[in-house]
Amino acid sequence: MNVTVIGTGYVGLVTGACLADFGHDVVCVDRAVERIAALETGTLPFYEPGLLELVSKNVAARRLSFSTDAAPAVSRSSVVFLAVGTPAAADGSVDLRQLMNAVADVAPHLPAESVLVTKSTVPVGTGARVEQLIARLALGGRAVDVASNPEFLREGSAVGDFMRPDRVVIGTRCARAAALLRELYRPLYLIETPIVETTIETAEMIKYASNAFLAVKIGFVNEIANLCDEVEADVHVVAKAMGLDKRIGAKFLHPGPGYGGSCFPKDTRALAAIGNATGVPQRIVETAIAVNAQQQERLLEKILSALGVVCAPRVAVLGLAFKPNTSDVRESPAIFICRRLMRAGVAVRAFDPVADDEAAAALAGDDARFVHAASAYQALDGADAVVIMTEWNEFRSLDLARVRDMMRRPILVDPRNILNPAAAAALGFTYICTGRRTAARAAAERQPIPALVS
Ligand code: NAD
Repeated sequence: MNVTVIGTGYVGLVTGACLADFGHDVVCVDRAVERIAALETGTLPFYEPGLLELVSKNVAARRLSFSTDAAPAVSRSSVVFLAVGTPAAADGSVDLRQLMNAVADVAPHLPAESVLVTKSTVPVGTGARVEQLIARLALGGRAVDVASNPEFLREGSAVGDFMRPDRVVIGTRCARAAALLRELYRPLYLIETPIVETTIETAEMIKYASNAFLAVKIGFVNEIANLCDEVEADVHVVAKAMGLDKRIGAKFLHPGPGYGGSCFPKDTRALAAIGNATGVPQRIVETAIAVNAQQQERLLEKILSALGVVCAPRVAVLGLAFKPNTSDVRESPAIFICRRLMRAGVAVRAFDPVADDEAAAALAGDDARFVHAASAYQALDGADAVVIMTEWNEFRSLDLARVRDMMRRPILVDPRNILNPAAAAALGFTYICTGRRTAARAAAERQPIPALVS
């Protein structure tokens, strides 16, 4: 099947490469000329494990190519995906300009009986607007169908998520479009992926409801973790035992500095804005947004209070990406912490295995006291405190004795709880974590720590 994907961001490029790997002929289109030029020379615009290999393999097999010109590719495609950005507007609503511009770009070139599929995350009602625009702009009133096929991949494991999704959601009013998309995703039928066929509106809603629910789960466990700190409980044991209940599930019960990234912050704000606009406020989601902001502030307070009053304070920040295995720093809690520490007069030296350039761009013009280090150890050399913001594997295996010896003061802030409190305490660190103060204190006092359920 001939397929065009508009937008070569995380979603568009992964979609294009994976569909090519399914055996389809795919052209990935982007209006960013440098991005397409780089892709044509085998350079990806971001870091995503396994993607470069998949792109190279399918380019070599001539099933995948890149272009800045949508018209020729669209005019011979049965399916055209829209995978452009849908960023938040200032009031939290969704800025649909990229999407509507992309629709206007492709509409005159869509062949009769093709399907225009929105993969971008869009508010309920957007599909209907796309249908109206297509009806106006499709040449000669060609019969073009519109569908919604929201994407659930996670950055850092995007290829695996696309190839083995928990479900595929297809929203359309038209049986022919549904049949075409089922055919496109046939390799997933073979591995028995559940396919949810529904209306466009329901498909659009599923995406927001799913992301918002996960954000609520994170906010919930973060509040429980904060409470654990006050009542001498260990959030790891609490979350582990909660997760053993199949009605709750173990995923997304990891406390930390709050969620970030390109999806949860904007999608929760969008759902809240949609709720308010329709007179059905989403109070749980609104609270999750507020709790998330508070969690980041709380971490900042913990760091500043551990630093106390010190001359020319210096903090090492390990990890800048919003999660490991990605170079994406959009709304990363690490960027928030760097920015706010610098504004408080703290010099920040940071290290991330892949996201240094993206972080430099995000913090450009913010403050001259932000310095990139070439390694974790270089970042923390002479620091008053080290804060591990992203749970990259290499930070899990830091040589803590070496870390202590290199630092000016042994303050170790581990908001994602990736280190062993006993090991940190035994080495004389002031160890600050999330919801495990009891475990850290018990270790410092050499008392047995309550065991995890095994
Ligand atoms: P992105 O910002 O990384 O990439 C968007 C790309 O679209 C850019 O390269 C931009 O140049 C291009 N573009 C914009 N308008 C265009 C046009 N008219 N023609 C050609 N190219 C155009 O975005 P992303 O992170 O891939 O997200 C895309 C959509 O998917 C968003 O709606 C997002 O909410 C959703 N989504 C993202 C993720 C994720 O993990 N990033 C997961 C699921 C869903």
